[in-house]
Amino acid sequence: MHRTKVRVVEDALDANNTIASANRSDFDRSNVTVVNLMSAPGAGKTTLLERALEGLADEDPPVRVGVLEGDVQGSFDADRLSVLHIPVVQLNTDNGFGGECHLDANMVRSALPAVPLDDMDVLIVENVGNLVCPAEFRIGEDARIMVCSVTEGEDKPLKYPLMFRACELVVINKVDLLEHLDFDVDRLEANILQVNHHAKVMRVSAKTGEGIDAFRAWLQALPARAGATA
Ligand code: MG
Ligand code: ZN
Repeated sequence: MHRTKVRVVEDALDANNTIASANRSDFDRSNVTVVNLMSAPGAGKTTLLERALEGLADEDPPVRVGVLEGDVQGSFDADRLSVLHIPVVQLNTDNGFGGECHLDANMVRSALPAVPLDDMDVLIVENVGNLVCPAEFRIGEDARIMVCSVTEGEDKPLKYPLMFRACELVVINKVDLLEHLDFDVDRLEANILQVNHHAKVMRVSAKTGEGIDAFRAWLQALPARAGATA
């Protein structure tokens, strides 16, 4: 019984990886670097993007960014980002995917016809807020990153190690709140590095803009990777 269940899960992940490879081919053809952005609900993914993406196309080097916004329902976050005058496409998992709590390769693939890949250098896929299954489903991305806020507890990396291990960059957000909280941000960072000692960690406040320059610089460096990863 147990063995059968494991088999089904493995088959589902194999099928997902096959579709992720097809996505990867499309991204490569358009020379787009893809970021899978994950977090728990409310960590501040959308606010971080609002802060970080503004004016990137006018920077040196210029980076044309697009966003694929994943949510169970609604287009609240996509509406917020649309004022940045960048391509934003909403993908709702409620719409034909049973309200899934994560994006998988097939869902992303279904949205690609609406995404103008040739008009962008970087595509950021904002995943559904969830610290569990998004880490298991590759979507054909080059980089996986997550946002973890200081309102969440220092032990998050120890409770959800797979997510922290799956990501190369962890952005600690809402550091402007630290003075009001009994929160040990050094301990959070130590816990992140305990489960993933390769992780790059940044401390930012998407609200005040503190630390955002480092994140923008990280995004600007991404296109140089296009085609460098399989
Ligand atoms: Mg959001
Ligand atoms: Zn899920």
